[in-house]
Order: sequence, then structure tokens, then C-alpha cells
Amino acid sequence: MISSNDPVSRTRKHASSNVIAIDGPAASGKSSTAHWVAERLGYRHIDSGAVYRAATAAAMHSKQVPDLWTEEIVLASAASIVLRERGDSFEPVLQGVAFEELIRGLDVTHNVSRVARMPGVRMWVNDTVRAAAEDYDVVVDGRDIGTVVFPNADLKIFLVADSWERARRRLTQRLSRRPSDAEIAAETELLVQRDARDAMQTVQASDAVLVDTTYLTQEEQVERIVALAHAVTQRASDTSPR
Ligand code: C5P
Repeated sequence: MISSNDPVSRTRKHASSNVIAIDGPAASGKSSTAHWVAERLGYRHIDSGAVYRAATAAAMHSKQVPDLWTEEIVLASAASIVLRERGDSFEPVLQGVAFEELIRGLDVTHNVSRVARMPGVRMWVNDTVRAAAEDYDVVVDGRDIGTVVFPNADLKIFLVADSWERARRRLTQRLSRRPSDAEIAAETELLVQRDARDAMQTVQASDAVLVDTTYLTQEEQVERIVALAHAVTQRASDTSPR
């Protein structure tokens, strides 16, 4: 059951914790939306993509070039990664050091999909995410959260947006200025290629609510998902035995 933003819901939880799954393609705004939804509901946010990125960054420290990475190399490199609590979210930490800047870099972005295709790595990420979620109400974002990681999530959202708009938003954030059409076109091309590499993993659950954010502001996206979360709570309390 989903509760509202009150001090009780910020405390550690037990087996009956709530899960909201937010899936969707690259740059659809999953992580920032998940962050704000978690904040509104008093939940924790877990970004599963950051864990795949962390495993990729760790593999870059191995002696092998990315083309020769095997599942064993990646898993051995990722063994010293833990998800550490940071405020209302979690950050991947490698040997005690957070490496947020590195995991968002172009090298990691370019190589993360090959790592994410390795079945053993997917199992490791899923276990890591589930362990972090165990004690809390959580909003988890990724590609397969509602289908594989938390198939019984209380609420599942599949977030999409027009490719050009996704590219425009990503560049505006990265450059802190209005990008030109030529820049947006080049970024759209890169995004579409990454969508293709991630297609197998990016699955909309049959019971997910589709939210198209192309014409929505960040605030409107968050409002919609918070409203859906409250509707789930209402339905649960209407149907629970008195
Ligand atoms: O969400 P983000 O773009 O940071 O994710 C980075 C990469 O991690 C994706 O391109 C995808 O290859 C992988 N990923 C995944 N399954 C998830 C989350 C991310 O395969 N649940």
C-alpha cells in the first residue's frame, strides 16, 4: 500500500514495503522523475541504470579493452561496488569512493549496453537493487523493473517521449544553453542507437501505465505519477477487508 509524505513513511520498513517501478528508454526523464516522486511520497529512490554504469566504470579499471570484456571480468571488477545510502537515494560506491562523474561520462555511456546484455551482470544488478530496497518504500527506475526486478510492484509506469524531445532535453541539461537543431539531430541519432542496443531489456509491463512526457513539464510528470500512486492506495483501502 502506498502512503503519503509523512515522517512514518520515512522510517525503515518491513516485508510489506511499497514499490513504484518506472521504466522507459534512455533520456525519457526516468531518474529525475523517480527522484521527485520519491521525495513527494517520502520514499527512497534507486536508479538501477547507475548500477549498470558503475559496473561498466569498474570494468574500465580492468586491463582488458571493452571489446574483450567477458562476464567474469565485469563481475570481478564490480565485486567491490556497494550501493550506499545518500539522503533519500542510493549511490554506487567503488572501494569506498563515489564516482558519479565517471559513471555519467561518454566512455561509460558508450559501453554500458554491452555490459547490460550479460545475464550474470543483470542478476548481480537485480540482487543489488532488491537488497537496497528491502527495508524501504522505494521508487526504482530502469528498463525492466516492472517486468523482471519487481514484477509485483504496487505501481508500474512506462515513461516515453519523442526522440527529438529527449535529445533536446538531454543537451539542454548538459550544455546549460539552448542547443541548435544540428546538435539535437546528432544527439537524436546517438539516442536512437542506444535505444536499439537496449531494446531487448526495455520492456513495458502489460500492467504498466504509459506516460508520454513529450508535452509535459517535469512538474506535470511528477504530479501524474503521484496522483496514480494515491489512486493505488485508494483502491487498496477500498478493497481491504474491514
Ligand atoms: O538509465 P541509464 O541510461 O542511466 O542506464 C544506463 C544503461 O544501463 C542503459 O543504457 C541500459 O543498457 C542499462 N540498463 C538496463 N536495465 C536497467 C537499467 C539500465 O539494461 N534496468
